Amino acid sequence: MSAPAVHESVLDAIGGTPLIRLARLGAGLAAPVYAKAEFLSIGGSVKDRAALSMVLAAERDGLLAPGGTIVEATSGNTGIGLAIVGRRRGYRVIAAVADRTAPEKWDILRAYGAEVVLAPTAVPLEDPAHLFNVVRRIVEETPGAWLADQYDNQANPDAHVRTTGPEIWEQTGGRVTHFVAGVGTGGTITGTGGHLKAVSGGAVTVVGADPESSVYGGGDGSPYYVESIGHFIHPDTVEDRWPLAYRRDAADAFERIPDRESLLTARRLAREEGILAGPSSGTAVAAALRVARRLGPEDLVVVLLPDSGRSYLSKVHSDAWMRQWGFLEDGGAVETGGAVENAVPAEPTGLRPLLDSAGPLVTVDADATVGEAARTLHGVPGGVAPAVLARTARPYGVSAAEVVGAVSREVLAAALADGSAKPDAPLGALLGPALPAVGVGQSVAEARAALGSGHPGVLVLVDGRAAGVLPRPALAD
Ligand code: PMP
Repeated sequence: MSAPAVHESVLDAIGGTPLIRLARLGAGLAAPVYAKAEFLSIGGSVKDRAALSMVLAAERDGLLAPGGTIVEATSGNTGIGLAIVGRRRGYRVIAAVADRTAPEKWDILRAYGAEVVLAPTAVPLEDPAHLFNVVRRIVEETPGAWLADQYDNQANPDAHVRTTGPEIWEQTGGRVTHFVAGVGTGGTITGTGGHLKAVSGGAVTVVGADPESSVYGGGDGSPYYVESIGHFIHPDTVEDRWPLAYRRDAADAFERIPDRESLLTARRLAREEGILAGPSSGTAVAAALRVARRLGPEDLVVVLLPDSGRSYLSKVHSDAWMRQWGFLEDGGAVETGGAVENAVPAEPTGLRPLLDSAGPLVTVDADATVGEAARTLHGVPGGVAPAVLARTARPYGVSAAEVVGAVSREVLAAALADGSAKPDAPLGALLGPALPAVGVGQSVAEARAALGSGHPGVLVLVDGRAAGVLPRPALAD
């Protein structure tokens, strides 16, 4: 084995990541599955490559000059890459980050000397508070500012044509037959996949790993729980736009992975393979395992793991977080015959028994009239229901993020009785705050604590989606 490289600058330590065989998760499969370990890049993610490429291109094209400021909208990792490259080359770096990204990434950005601006996630593209509009304003107001614009910047996929693709081809001695990666900006899959197809004469199959409800793989764009990949569409967005860094024919096929499978696979990667990676790595590995199951010994699958799990110790790698959103029903993962999985315990625990006897979930459209809501609530145990945006399609269930309030039969009856609301009036003013949400694996005591003194019930989440309501009497001692 040759000695590891010696670098004269941190910028030379970007990329050049190893392939690691997933021998345990891939046990029993004929085709070997190798992980491209991007968390070993100097900034901890695949986005170091795009960041370096975009900065060098901007300098070359005269868009970024000494004294300049780099601005970017980022789920964190591109900002970290830009902070490393940008600060090293003497620029100011401003990273605008969606408030639902893991807070660990904000701290890492600040540690590298970037200025962090938080923007709300759940707003339509047209809203001035949307991340993309926030960065445009910062650029307008900051002399010498340059927007890296990873979504539309060709230097992003180009980084992967020049580095990631050739590395994988060389590391596998040209034996790679399938490349699997998630799609955020699309830079990775377009550049790496495109290169592998080109050098193999079209023999490499490229597979996109997508959250089930993301539109890239054919979902409706409703919310999902894996950050940094997929494409979400806010129901109020008028005109959706896909990144130019993503070539629509980059993937030959998609594997659409439910959140639970992504998150539990990320946890298995840590526990069984010793690879602490982020949730999008879970999606990619889940997809790669599905692909590999259909292949033979002559095939070789490479799956790209975009970043480290150290940025998500408060999310996917936290048992408390997993339980809070209904992704874990026991105390954590349990050992079952060598495989670690989230087994549903023989004796139902947490809120599962109460949920099972609570009856099916009833929701009310927030755009409904008072009369419609009253009819919907007729006969519903406890007489309380979450209110959801009527414009939201729901083939994947109602995500916690789609719940905009709650409505109770008592409030409607009182307003109709005293004449303060007519049956054909919009529900609007009678809508109460959203019910506190608890995961199905949380305890009855935790549900009672969430209920507090004012709420008429709690919303129970299974896999991050509304599964039922436990009205206050159901939680009584
Ligand atoms: N996973 C993580 C953790 C990321 O930060 C990104 C970049 N947003 C991706 C996946 C997707 O990579 P790309 O933007 O190249 O499609």
